[in-house]
Amino acid sequence: MQSNSLRILDTEVPAPKKFELQLEVQKVGICGTDRDIISGFYGEAPQGSEYLVLGHESLSRVSKVGSGVRGFKKGDLVVPTVRRKCYENCLNCKAGESDMCLTGDYSEHGIKGLHGFAREYAISDSRFVVKLPESLSDIGVLLEPLTVVEKGEAQTFRLQLARMKWLPKKALVLGAGPVGLLATAILRLRGLEVDTIATRSEDSPKAKLVKQTGARYINAMETPLNTLEKRYDIVFEITGSPSVGFEAQQLIGVNGVVCFLGIYKSQQDTGDAGKLFTDLVLGNKVFFGSVNANKTYFEKGVKDLLAIRKKWNGFLEKIITRRASYEDFEKAYSPESQEEIKTIIEFRK
Ligand code: BGC
Repeated sequence: MQSNSLRILDTEVPAPKKFELQLEVQKVGICGTDRDIISGFYGEAPQGSEYLVLGHESLSRVSKVGSGVRGFKKGDLVVPTVRRKCYENCLNCKAGESDMCLTGDYSEHGIKGLHGFAREYAISDSRFVVKLPESLSDIGVLLEPLTVVEKGEAQTFRLQLARMKWLPKKALVLGAGPVGLLATAILRLRGLEVDTIATRSEDSPKAKLVKQTGARYINAMETPLNTLEKRYDIVFEITGSPSVGFEAQQLIGVNGVVCFLGIYKSQQDTGDAGKLFTDLVLGNKVFFGSVNANKTYFEKGVKDLLAIRKKWNGFLEKIITRRASYEDFEKAYSPESQEEIKTIIEFRK
């Protein structure tokens, strides 16, 4: 991608093919991946296109339905998944799990080879779209970031329960951005005791949201990671900091698991790899990464958005700290301020 080439374009309204939906986009969320694409670190335009339309976190209404589409009608509130199957249609893509694609040849809306949803009208294959109840029309745009957590959590439990009997009690979430906050809520919903650590003060909006779920907020400026009790069953690493990631393994107890959900810039000399590997072996520990989410996680996410909203009134609404119009796109995509949590662009109110 060409760095810093962000701009607004006039394009044609796309027409849906047989199995596609035309989407009247309502809202699009902005995340680190979008900013990485803008800076040229990441991203790929569709074949034959000189530009890539951004936007993979979205909420839309169906505006037109292709002739072969079943189960959708004009006006439905929907969220499309991000990744589409690879050209070879590998084993996992064929099974509807393109999030576990084996070839790497997949495409992703707004990220890799497919235009995204940050436009007035967009297109998606209807087989990768989930419906939302009307009650989620204000915060349904948080579904896609929530699915990152849904997959991380599901994979954590699948991995652990495949190798032993396991009854986790304590989880640690490293980072309190949108994904860290949603992870805190999901782990609390599942009945775990949760500590969430970040660098903001105790009275910051992020800390307040953590506490609203009954989790404990830890200010890393006052309580450094290496002073925490080293007994967590689960650690979710979402800071994207290699040195924090390295420290994470010392915080899990025997048989524990660390799920990495961040993107890490390469860094030499982060820590002692010998000690890390020995600790992993002697503690039967698991480190794993997780990216993207298939439709099943989106469906689970819809139920969890409703459950979170019922349990912690206002929690989801307060994650959205800035609502911009698309004319204000430059400000919306500019680096986030420290108290900002999630910025969204509203295409329609
Ligand atoms: C998206 C994923 C995507 C990943 C890598 C994330 O921001 O949520 O769907 O797979 O970026 O491209």
